[in-house]
Amino acid sequence: MKKVLIANRGEIALRIVRACRELGLSSVAVYSDADARAPHVREADEAVHLGPSPSSESYLRGDLIIAAALRVGAEAIHPGYGFLSEREWFARAVRDAGLIWVGPPAEAIAAMGSKTAARTLAIAHNVPVVPGTTEALHDADEALAIAARFGYPVLLKAAAGGGGKGMRVVREASQMASSLDAARREAKNAFGDDAVYVEKYIEGPRHVEIQVLADAHGRCVSLGERECSVQRRHQKMIEESPSPAVNAELRKAMGAAAVRVAKAAGYVNAGTCEFLLDASGAFYFLEMNTRIQVEHPVTELVTGVDLVQWQLRIAAGERLPFTSTIEPRGWAMECRITSEDASNGFLPSTGRIGYLRLPGGPGVRWDGGIGSGSEVTLFYDPMLAKLIVWAPTRLEAIARMHRALGELTIDGVETSREFHMRVMEDEEFRRGDIEIQWLERRLDSLVGAPPPRAQVEAAAVAAALLAERDRRSRTPRTAAIAGTLSATQDAARPELSPWARAARAQGLRGE
Ligand code: ADP
Repeated sequence: MKKVLIANRGEIALRIVRACRELGLSSVAVYSDADARAPHVREADEAVHLGPSPSSESYLRGDLIIAAALRVGAEAIHPGYGFLSEREWFARAVRDAGLIWVGPPAEAIAAMGSKTAARTLAIAHNVPVVPGTTEALHDADEALAIAARFGYPVLLKAAAGGGGKGMRVVREASQMASSLDAARREAKNAFGDDAVYVEKYIEGPRHVEIQVLADAHGRCVSLGERECSVQRRHQKMIEESPSPAVNAELRKAMGAAAVRVAKAAGYVNAGTCEFLLDASGAFYFLEMNTRIQVEHPVTELVTGVDLVQWQLRIAAGERLPFTSTIEPRGWAMECRITSEDASNGFLPSTGRIGYLRLPGGPGVRWDGGIGSGSEVTLFYDPMLAKLIVWAPTRLEAIARMHRALGELTIDGVETSREFHMRVMEDEEFRRGDIEIQWLERRLDSLVGAPPPRAQVEAAAVAAALLAERDRRSRTPRTAAIAGTLSATQDAARPELSPWARAARAQGLRGE
């Protein structure tokens, strides 16, 4: 394997370019009209134009992507996440074209592609699932009978579901018929499949997932958990590793369950088993994501394992050198920086990125897909970048994240930065008292909170300084002449540093 085509865009495409470069592989980007000048295109060794901006005419055109790979002489295709990453037909088509698929076998994607099939497989291998059915519902009467057996509330879920689509909570029998219709319609629209089944709705669980790596030689290991309970509308917003609710014993049990599911599916490459964890420590398998996850960096930071490099190495036939569960070291946290206006119902914001100042310093990682000048459109997902930090303890990681968010400036579009800062200041979050409904319950106080006092004071001082500078600049002529004169004199004064001379030449003496 020498050349890898990356069938994706944005931050994950750039992340894969970096992994390729570190492994000595050359990378090929693909792009749509809207992304002609995007960072992932500039950074890759080569780039191929796919088509117009809508994903359906570019990043979802598997035929064009495979043709591009063959044309440029790439041996492998890395799908990233989203787009074609979990489409069985695409994994198969890549393989049929004689190319290496950097992901699990098409058969494993198929085994996990339907939530009902995955549940059946988990049950068969002694992995607990949320109580519910493994068959699609025929009608509302059947749903009512099942709900009566488990007790309300129940959750209707699309078998082909993803991204929280096609899900409806039903709290009482009278809502069943209309909720079932709505879930079916949404599932049909989003996935072309209206199969819906029933699960018991668990109140207040955490979302905890296990990262696994499996090689093609039969070894499969768990890399520990990620806590992803901070969600809005079933979409993750902040992730961390380890989880405040998981100890070494639970980590081992959940890791073993995830490895059983992966092995049962004939899994190879990086994958994630998602679980709900209730307050008593009982966990239930939800589904397996057969690709790299958005939140993979937090696992990388606490394990020291480069997951994207390992995806490529496994695809090239390498053996995993680790045997048992790797214990996490320190604490890692990730904020998804999106172009959404949190104070305005998370309304998507579009525009051109102007000034961009990235955070730095100890323990800070920026996985971004934007640069200044980047155009943020409505064609793609609003996630612009991920800000990830590492520190020895959870509270230190929170302080570091708050500091790094404070350094971040993105001009030109509204972003979720302020919202994330408020979460870092929240007492419940700081105590780790979170579950999947926490954010929705807390949202009003998080987005409506006035800025902290120190920030208001800093703004007042800044305004006063600007007014003062304005006042002084009303006498520019004499200042400029004085500056020129002193610059001429200063040239003959070697004791002045170049900085002092420059400042004096601008009439900024002593400032
Ligand atoms: P998707 O594939 O659409 O993301 P998931 O099955 O992963 O669907 O569920 C998404 C989210 O919905 C979970 O992270 C969790 O927050 C919530 N959820 C799913 N199943 C249940 C359940 N049985 N009870 C309560 N919440 C659930």
